[in-house]
Amino acid sequence: AFTFSLFHFMTSEQLFEKAKTLIPGGVNSPVRAFRAVGGTPLFIKSAKGAYLTDEDDRQYIELINSWGPMILGHAFEPVERAVRDAIQYSFSFGAPTRKEVEMAELIVSMVPSVEKVRMVNSGTEATMAAIRVARGFTGRDKIIKFEGCYHGHGDSFLIAAGSGAMTMGTPDSPGVTKATAHDTLTAPYNNLAAVETLIDANPNQIACLILEPVVGNMGCVLPDPGFLQGIRDLCTKHGIVLIFDEVMTGFRLAKGGAQERFGILPDLTTMGKIIGGGMPVGAYGGRTDIMNMVSPAGPVYQAGTLSGNPIAMSAGLAMLTYLNEHPEVYERLDTIGKRLGDGFRDSAAKLGLNYTVNQIGSMFTLFITDKPVTDLTSAKTSDIPRFGRYFHAMLERGVYLAPAQYESLFVSTALTDDLIEQVIAANEESLKAVMKD
Ligand code: PMP
Repeated sequence: AFTFSLFHFMTSEQLFEKAKTLIPGGVNSPVRAFRAVGGTPLFIKSAKGAYLTDEDDRQYIELINSWGPMILGHAFEPVERAVRDAIQYSFSFGAPTRKEVEMAELIVSMVPSVEKVRMVNSGTEATMAAIRVARGFTGRDKIIKFEGCYHGHGDSFLIAAGSGAMTMGTPDSPGVTKATAHDTLTAPYNNLAAVETLIDANPNQIACLILEPVVGNMGCVLPDPGFLQGIRDLCTKHGIVLIFDEVMTGFRLAKGGAQERFGILPDLTTMGKIIGGGMPVGAYGGRTDIMNMVSPAGPVYQAGTLSGNPIAMSAGLAMLTYLNEHPEVYERLDTIGKRLGDGFRDSAAKLGLNYTVNQIGSMFTLFITDKPVTDLTSAKTSDIPRFGRYFHAMLERGVYLAPAQYESLFVSTALTDDLIEQVIAANEESLKAVMKD
């Protein structure tokens, strides 16, 4: 039986008011609260293909796609079917299953540097585990991360963190101990010399270097030519475990992620988002000798009651299988991304606005700045109040963007040519509407 409560008759605004009395800030993840752009967050009722529908029954064209996972559009049928099939056999066993083995084999076959893999329940779990393993493997304590990169909400990463942590103005979160912060060293993105300086100042103390091989979390920022190779060389030279955080880029920039696209192999890779087809899934994997440190093969402890959950594995398997068998998906994503990126750039130029658009494959960001954006300092030259007005102008025209400047957009293959044109037209009108105020 399906029961109705009063909540079924509430608008987004009423739900948000109620939510704020029950949930911190009314949301279960900060950036959803629209703090950076103002106004009331949309409470989403359903989504299909390229469209979201909110509790007020308005439809929006999706450019976030659950922050990445819905790369083939919402409620993609093979994934939906796999979940429907799976639920007949109970939802969790806390015991090994055939699907986990299939999943592991598929990931190892798709991601070039991954020889062994462990499933977890989120990107955050994946990155926390990966640095623990790197520390166990090297016997060293310190890690290097880049300013503006976000690696989930683990204590070690909330130092100069991007995404919501930056948008919320609390890059160094209370509750992270000084001792933890002390072990996290940071450098500006795309700055090899700064990394070298950190390594020289901390000889034989750095366990790992973690980075987003293409950044999504200070807006989309690309690695300069030679940057990833330079990082790879430095890590190899100094015995530092190189971790690519491919939570956003994995299975998106190519079927084997950024490492395949750029042809540079890390020692460990963290994964999330697409890997679960929309279910809560993450994974970390890499070199056999390093992964053999993980319990019970080795001494580094890491576990999970719901890890490898059969419903989540079914969704993920259906998603990855489809991507693995349809290389044309990546050509289409590149085409869509390029057309949107070029379209946004052209519209801005036409209006005499020299805004920066960073785009690679299906990730892109329009920065409200005329400076090139290559790191956190340059990302911060963006006009944040104007971005907020632009965001709402797009929303009024039926386009749902990430509700903050320091985020990448993620397109799906559900965007048809017609929808691409609609989005480009909405962008031009929105820029026009906000350029003068
Ligand atoms: N790493 C990166 C690069 C991310 O973008 C994110 C989340 N957006 C995470 C880790 C954390 O993943 P989750 O939100 O699933 O914990």
